[in-house]
Amino acid sequence: MLLLEGGRIVTPDGVLSPGWIRLAGDVIDAVGSGDPHEQLPAVDLRGQWVLPGFVDVHVHGGGGASFTEGTSDQARQAAAFHGGQGSTTVLASLVTAPLAELEARAGLLGGLADDGVIAGLHLEGPFLSPARRGAQDPRHMIAPDVAVFERLHAAARGHLRVITLAPELPGAFAVIQAATRAGVTVAVGHTDATAEVTLAAIDAGATHATHLFNGMRPPHHREPGAVGALLDRDEVTCEVIADGVHLDDIMVRLTARAAGPGRLVLVSDAMAAAGMPDGSYQLGSQRVSVAGGVARLLEDRAAIAGSTATLADVVRHAVAAGLPVSDVAAAASTTPARVLGLADRTGALSPGLSADLVVCDDDFRPRAVMRHGEWLTAPP
Ligand SMILES: [Zn+2]
Repeated sequence: MLLLEGGRIVTPDGVLSPGWIRLAGDVIDAVGSGDPHEQLPAVDLRGQWVLPGFVDVHVHGGGGASFTEGTSDQARQAAAFHGGQGSTTVLASLVTAPLAELEARAGLLGGLADDGVIAGLHLEGPFLSPARRGAQDPRHMIAPDVAVFERLHAAARGHLRVITLAPELPGAFAVIQAATRAGVTVAVGHTDATAEVTLAAIDAGATHATHLFNGMRPPHHREPGAVGALLDRDEVTCEVIADGVHLDDIMVRLTARAAGPGRLVLVSDAMAAAGMPDGSYQLGSQRVSVAGGVARLLEDRAAIAGSTATLADVVRHAVAAGLPVSDVAAAASTTPARVLGLADRTGALSPGLSADLVVCDDDFRPRAVMRHGEWLTAPP
């Protein structure tokens, strides 16, 4: 048993200040406020915030390494980088690539999921709209095809959790149904869909929005597009990249109010350059140049190519933008854990869940991270 005491503990029922957490091995045993009145080995966290470990459902790489290319060890390095920054659960996101390559990456990442390094895979492609390609390679975008989906699903050996697709493409509805039957979350993204088509996709089983606003037609008051439809439907969880680059803070606040903490999902969409200096990087087949922390395609400087933020950076930015800390914790941990079907294991500082937590200073910079009861970085 170990006590963490004196911190501001962010729980689903509010902030306990001061509060305490009692750990039993790799599990949270109890949480309370005030003085725990127990004689146990204790860590003093006075003056610090304690948040649930972040759950990042959209991340391509970090710390100079990628999920989208390179070796298995490099993919482990990317997961370890994000873990050290507070993301105790990460879903590895692939970008559009030739099929054989996607199949090979799905196999490699499936192995990492078997080992518990990542929570599984997110296929961001290849069934996307070239009209809203963002930084993805349009040469490898293809029409949705159930046989192709089955191949990629099989390659990931049960670890494919989310697939992003554009529902206006021919064949999309058959893939939405096949994925939903297979227990894979269907996300709408990189899409030029109208509101009408998006609503039909939700009726067919889509339940998630990939980086709302980015890679979608801008909403118009008479044609609200995918953005309007996704926000309007209660069963849809909505990702936002609240890094101060991808979205104006006004849009972050409006989305947070419209979706509420139970549907808002903060993501990093980080690529290899997260945590690294400016310079040249790779995102799948695309070459990326990072200047002033903003990643852009080398060939098309208008296209922002993922982010260089960690989810901890996004959390800090969201708090600074005015979102309540409890809501930010829900959107960075609890709600994404639910998206992954892991709500009974992680995503909140609640008894019975995995001891996954982040200790932050007053500016919400991570100072210590615990995953499954082990300190990845110890408290100062
Ligand atoms: Zn992405």
